[in-house]
Amino acid sequence: MASSPSPPPRFLLSSQRVWNTLRESLRDAVGLVLPTWCVVCGTENRSVCGACRETIVYRENRRSIPVVDRAGAVRELWVCSAVAYEGNVRRILLAVKEGRSDASGALAPLLRRVLGDELARLYRSGASAGRVIRVVPMPSTARSERLRGFRPVELLVRSGSLCVFGFLEGAWRQDASRRVRLKRWLRVRRRRRKNQVGLSRTERQRNVDETLVASYQCATNFIVIVDDVITTGSSLRESYRALSEKGGIVLGAVTLAHTPRHPV
Ligand SMILES: [Zn+2]
Repeated sequence: MASSPSPPPRFLLSSQRVWNTLRESLRDAVGLVLPTWCVVCGTENRSVCGACRETIVYRENRRSIPVVDRAGAVRELWVCSAVAYEGNVRRILLAVKEGRSDASGALAPLLRRVLGDELARLYRSGASAGRVIRVVPMPSTARSERLRGFRPVELLVRSGSLCVFGFLEGAWRQDASRRVRLKRWLRVRRRRRKNQVGLSRTERQRNVDETLVASYQCATNFIVIVDDVITTGSSLRESYRALSEKGGIVLGAVTLAHTPRHPV
């Protein structure tokens, strides 16, 4: 029997308000101790000022990309994104990747919301057959991680958040107390790229394409992949390939932002 989902309980809403106020005060306090400036407009004492935050509006976008499953069949992978990759979203994300990890809090709620909504949708549809859906972040290369000292995608999921499931309601509230634990089941292949000379066309393609390796731990698990931006979908397609190859069951993908579809 289908019943309409009930709204979040009042105490959750008010605790969210208290948290928001606390967070704002904390930001002010931090700004006084550690001088900072808005990564967009340069206003002092905020990583991203209120005016610049207000320009970012959540607008969910869903698109599907063709992927090839383990059996060689082509199927569609749905990718859900929170905002368009343009304007201040783009500026802030680039700043985060260039080391202003303090600005990630301006984007993190958007990614958490789209992730929470997508997980709720998948749970409700019964796609995971009652089992927990694992969230697998897109990995950074070892080099960029060393340079930055953090992983942008993971930072965006975790930043300033107590709980990703704040947006889930009804039957899924039970999960609300559980934080999403990211599973680092993907890593960038560490290898010297083979010399392309003498390789067939297919081999060349594989040499370029297969850049990710998945852990055997992902086998038989239901998975949602999370990334910062979808452009052509090639990174997500590659993650899907790597995870499926090891027996992971990828149900969908979520990204913070999406760029307009590129003509093929
Ligand atoms: Zn600003």
